[in-house]
This record gives sequence, C-alpha cells and structure tokens, in this order.
Amino acid sequence: MAAGQGDSRYDILFEPLRIGPKVAKNRFYQVPHCNGGGYRDPSAVAEMRRTKAEGGWGVIFTEQTEIHPSSEITPFIEQHLWEDKDIPAFAAMAEAMKSHGALAGIQLAYSGINGPNLYSRDVPMAVSGGPILTFTSDPVQARTMDREDIRDLRRWFRAAFRRSQQAGFDLVCLYGAHGFGILQHFLSRATNSRTDEYGGSLENRARFLREVVEDAREETKGELGITLRLSLHEAGPLGFSNAELRDFIEMHRDLPDLWDLAHGTWEACSGTSRFTPEAAQEDLVRGIKALTDKPIVGVGRFTSADEMVRQIRSGVLDFIGAARPSIADPFLPKKIEEGRFEDIRECIGCNICVSGDMTGGISRCTQNTAFMEEWRKGWHPERPRPKGLSQSVLVVGAGPAGLEAALQAARRGYQVTLAEAGRELGGRVQRERALPGLSAWGRVADYRIGQLLPLPNVEIYRDSPMTAEDVVAIGADHVAIATGAKWRRDAVARLHLHPIPTDPAMPIYSPDDLMEGLGPRNCDVLLYDDDHFYMGSVLAELLVSRGCRVDFVTPAAKVAEWTENTLEQGRIMRRLLELGVKIQTNKAPEEIGRSEVMLGCTWTGALTVLETESVVMVTSRVPQDGLFREVMKLDSGKGGSGRTVKLIGDGAAPGPIAWATYAGRRFAEEIDQPDTGGEIPAFRREIAWLEPGPSRLP
Ligand code: ADP
Ligand code: SF4
Repeated sequence: MAAGQGDSRYDILFEPLRIGPKVAKNRFYQVPHCNGGGYRDPSAVAEMRRTKAEGGWGVIFTEQTEIHPSSEITPFIEQHLWEDKDIPAFAAMAEAMKSHGALAGIQLAYSGINGPNLYSRDVPMAVSGGPILTFTSDPVQARTMDREDIRDLRRWFRAAFRRSQQAGFDLVCLYGAHGFGILQHFLSRATNSRTDEYGGSLENRARFLREVVEDAREETKGELGITLRLSLHEAGPLGFSNAELRDFIEMHRDLPDLWDLAHGTWEACSGTSRFTPEAAQEDLVRGIKALTDKPIVGVGRFTSADEMVRQIRSGVLDFIGAARPSIADPFLPKKIEEGRFEDIRECIGCNICVSGDMTGGISRCTQNTAFMEEWRKGWHPERPRPKGLSQSVLVVGAGPAGLEAALQAARRGYQVTLAEAGRELGGRVQRERALPGLSAWGRVADYRIGQLLPLPNVEIYRDSPMTAEDVVAIGADHVAIATGAKWRRDAVARLHLHPIPTDPAMPIYSPDDLMEGLGPRNCDVLLYDDDHFYMGSVLAELLVSRGCRVDFVTPAAKVAEWTENTLEQGRIMRRLLELGVKIQTNKAPEEIGRSEVMLGCTWTGALTVLETESVVMVTSRVPQDGLFREVMKLDSGKGGSGRTVKLIGDGAAPGPIAWATYAGRRFAEEIDQPDTGGEIPAFRREIAWLEPGPSRLP
C-alpha cells in the first residue's frame, strides 16, 4: 500500500457525513464497546475515549449504558444512567469524546430477558417472560411486561434521553443488537410471543421502536441524532433473520438517523481471527443501503484502509464501524490520514479485550498496552513519557515482552540494546503464528519489529544467547530479562500439582515439540488439556491435519473453558466435533503406561483405560529464569551505578501474550520513576464516595 500524506485514494474516508441534526467529521465510527471499567472506573473510561478523539475518530460511543435499575447485567460492568447523579461521569466522558471534534454518542440499553438484576434485585421484565438468557444461566426468570410496564419503560427511556442531552452527547444509540437490548427483543419472534398490539405482525413488533424513537426526538427537541443498533441476523426458525431485518428497514426507511448493523449474537459479531476474517459481515449488509435513505455503519474488524474504501465505494457501508481496531490503535484514522500505514497497530483478533469484560476485571489489549491505563497510569497509546536521567537499556529476549520493552524504552529516548538468542525476533509469537488459525497473531511481532528497525537509538543482536557475564559486561543502566517459558512435558498443572507415574516407553510431547515440527503423525494421540485456553484445541486441529486420531481429554466440564471469555468456546467445540476429535470431559490421566493411559473421572475417581500411541501434554509452563538468577548472583540487582535488573513476561510468570506485552510496557514506563516499594497501588483508582444523609433503618 503506497504511503504519503493526503493519498487521495483514502479521501473518501475523511468526508464529513450527516447523522440527523449532526455532522460527523469523517467516516470513522467507534461503535459502542465494553471495557470492563464502566461505572466502576469512570475516569479511566473517559480518558480511554479521549485517546480515540485524539486519534481522529469522527464518532465515538460509550459502552452499553443501562437506563434503569430494573434491568442490569451484573456481573458485567457496564454504565449506569439511572438518575441525575449519574450525569457528571457521563458529562466528563462526553467532554473527552468531543475534545478533538468527534461526535459523542451514548448507547442506551434496557436488557429485558437478558438482565438478571443480581445487583438491583428488581424482578426482571421482558417482552415475553421466561428464564434470563445470559452467559451465566442465572436461575432467574423475567416476568412479561404489561401495558403499564411498557408505558413506564417509555418514560425511563425519555429520562435517559434527557440525561444524555444534559451530559452533552450528540448521538443516542438505541441498543438492540447481540440479543442484549429490549428493542430487538420486541422485533424478534424468538423473544416476542405477545398477542397484543406489540406482538404478532412485524408492524406490531416494531411498534415499541417507533414509539421510543418518536419519544427520543420529542424529548431532545430533535437536537440529537438517533441511531438504531440491530442484529444483522438472528439464527433459529423464529429469530429476527436478515430477510426480516431488510423488511423492517424497508418499512421504516427513515425511522432512525442512522442504522448501526451488527451480526447476531456477540459471539457471532465479535469473532476472533481464528474463526472470522476481516469484513466477515459483508454479505449480511450488502444491499441494505438501497432500502433506506439513512446512512449505515457496520463492523468487520477493519484495519485495512483499502478494505474500508472498498466497503464505501461498493455501497455496502457509509461509516466504517470499529470496536477492536479502535482499541488496538486509537490513532487508526489519523495514521491513515497521514499515510503512516506502517505505524498502524493492527488488532490481532484475540478477544483478550473482551475477556476483561467477561471476567469483571478491566480490559486489556494485546496490541495496545496503554488501553485502560491512560488515566490509571498515565500511559498513552502514542506519546511516550519523557526520558529520565539514565541512558541505556538492555533487553534480553525478543518475544512479546522483550519487543514491547525495547520499543517503549526506545520511544522514551533511551539507548536500547535488544539481544535475542535465536535468528528470528518474536519469541512465542513466531511459533504460534504458524499454528492453525493464529496467523494474525504474528502482528504482535511484525508491528514491533517494524517500529524498532528504523530507530537510530536501537541496536538489535540476533543469534546472541546471552550469559550473565555478557549482561553485566554490557553495563546498561537498566536490564529487562524477557527469556520466556517452556511448556512442561508432564501432567503438572491445575489438577495434578505433582508428576504422575509415567512409563518412559510412551512418547510424550509438549506444545513446544509440536511447534518445532516434532511429535506424532498418522497415529492415535491422547491430548491432555489442563490449560483450558486456546492451545489444546489448536494443537488438536494440528494433529488432525497430521493424520492423527485425537482423544481430547480435559478435567473440565467443557473443552477450552476459559475461551468462554474470548467468546470462542462454542466455535471451538463445534470445530473439534466437525474434525472428528473425540472429546472426553471430566477426565484426567492418573497413570501413563507404555501403550495406554489410565484415566480417572474427576468427580468419582472411576478409572478407565485408553489405548494410545502417544500423548500430548497441554498443561503448564516453566519460566526460563535461569539467566536472571545468574545475573542477580553476579550483580545484586542494584549495582553502584543504580542498575536495575528485572525479570518480565513469561520468564517471570507465564500468561497470555497480552500479559507479556503489558509487562514489557510496564518495565519501560517505570524506568527512572520513583520506586514506591509497593507502598501504594501503582495505579490511580476511584473510590465510591460516601452518600451523606441519615440512616434509613427504622
Ligand atoms: P515472552 O512472551 O515473555 O516475551 P517468549 O518465550 O515469547 O517470552 O520470548 C522469549 C525470548 O527470549 C525467545 O525469543 C528466546 O529465544 C529468548 N531468549 C531466551 N533466553 C535467552 C538468552 N539467554 N539470551 C537471549 N535471548 C534469550
Ligand atoms: Fe484486538 Fe486482541 Fe486488542 Fe482486542 S485485545 S483489540 S482483539 S488485539
């Protein structure tokens, strides 16, 4: 792709475009996305959105904002706009969003059949009552709304419109998509079995939407743009299908000021790169533009400017919607505008960001290590912290942790030496990118290597295994040891904390062996997964491609159970079943013989014997911290020169790649920063203030 300021091929992306009464400065539209911070971390969220404003987005949205306590999705931490007291936090967010000329949008949600109300304890209300449909199968049912409830809900929406306008937002998004919003629940026959004027025909099922949009216009005096976020396709015989969506849009050509269309469930919409390519929703959107006079925004993990232009020129979309690409690189629009394509930090489609929301932690991003640390730690996705007094940094190991440490230290202005034992830079990412479905993960290395190579203050040494003496001899002021980890070849992980009896005649392999091209081919394999993330299932795919017959054994009740948090578990299960992998849940090897493995039921202990020709252990990893320990022996860690030596990334504690890039960033950020000695948290946080007033107890 040719670079250069003002490349006219991309001008179309920077045309201003109207959304009702407002005009977006360009076509870059940050669709609503969660971040695991929500109402708990209002300043962290606002500052995160500010970086998107700086980065040139034309439209920036909040995450899901719950409008009333009678519908909330605890344990997931979103936003609450329940009363006027909530307005100041939103005003701060709107101000941050508008700070560089973007339109500020708020996504309003009432979750109906999706909200268990574990916090508010209100009885959930739904279009049609029934068990709450969430990820967590809460043992709660919603009751069916009667006409009065519907009137109440319209009133609550009105209050939310007023509050949104008071907070300073330009746009309101009515959330239907992904099954999370009541607007869609009304539309879909799967969730609407009413027999009154709100159920039955499409005309009737659309009644509530028409009423709410009218209320929004009236309440905001037509001053705000009203957008509608709906699912492109709900599966199932009664689901709101793509065909029905098209009928609905044709019947209501001008209802909202913009159609925001996103695929089916959240899992379907936010597919990982392992299962879903860029622009995957195109077939579902194409042609809808002809049914309406209003602009359309769609998503598709867009990171390629050429693809964005194609989407617009071919009449599929008017706005380029992005959540994850805007997280991985808040400066995506600006970099395209300036022709700095090689500087784009492309999303790798790993959904680690999603896992922050799913776990109630705070989101992080494998690629953008500053994500959600902008306010907490003052990390910026682009602007480096000024250099301190010391001069030189040595980084040993060029995996994700080492590459990020080197890059961020170099950006700060330190003289950086990066030494890597192997020929290739990238560490685990170079190996894992060759596994089935993981090629996009290579961007973690490609981006960082591409940024490091042109820097004059960076020296990179390949084929340079470092000894402790080498490290000390280089004499850098600060040393990061990022020497990674190796997979174990035994069963030790979560279930077995110690090795199990094993006959040495059984061939046993680790993921590292398989990634090096070793391991079984055309034979029976027992793959034991006590890791529960992606590696077990990815290796099962690899083994099938090598002609192996695979028994996938896991002590968990589900394969790859942590991938619930990356929205992949269902896809993985389906993929393994389609490949003919035999799945044995709730089991673990207790003893490994020469041609068989004794499996124990994790609940009853009942034993079964499985004949097999080889075993692949996906269990846990051992940090490669030997170099660090030797350096510490030679050098007490803080030499007379003030040298610091830190062990970072997988070499300290193995984790997902995002943990390693974060560790690299943290190392670089903390150079020449005062050592707090762990006395205060290394990040700012907000604490609930105490509500004044007398006790309510009788
Ligand atoms: P992380 O995810 O923490 O970055 P990786 O395993 O991906 O860890 O990367 C560690 C890198 O460190 C690998 O590329 C490995 O070759 C390199 N390495 C390990 N030991 C040494 C050493 N003594 N000298 C130089 N490089 C090393
Ligand atoms: Fe993309 Fe992964 Fe970052 Fe999410 S965490 S934005 S999927 S790179």
